[in-house]
Amino acid sequence: MAYLTSSREGKRFLGNRDKMEVHDLKYGDTNQDGCRVDEFIKSGHAVGFIIDTLDQAHKERYTSCIRCINRTEKPVNPPASSATRFGPSGPQQQMRP
Ligand SMILES: [Zn+2]
Repeated sequence: MAYLTSSREGKRFLGNRDKMEVHDLKYGDTNQDGCRVDEFIKSGHAVGFIIDTLDQAHKERYTSCIRCINRTEKPVNPPASSATRFGPSGPQQQMRP
């Protein structure tokens, strides 16, 4: 379940009931145009979750904040595609019909 709260103390995940978004306080983007967690706490839109997991937040129909949650799920930089795919001794043009 989700419950209204006015503090981030002791929580890992905090929901914004206004936008139905859940934030990961461990990775929260505290920049000015970041998650604005403190802003929605002040506005009275903050909710905590029982239990305090991302799974639970999703069950409550909160969507993951792209700034702090998908951050940990982003793929690492793709390998440089311009790297030599075939070495100098790689396959020659032998695939003619
Ligand atoms: Zn966030």
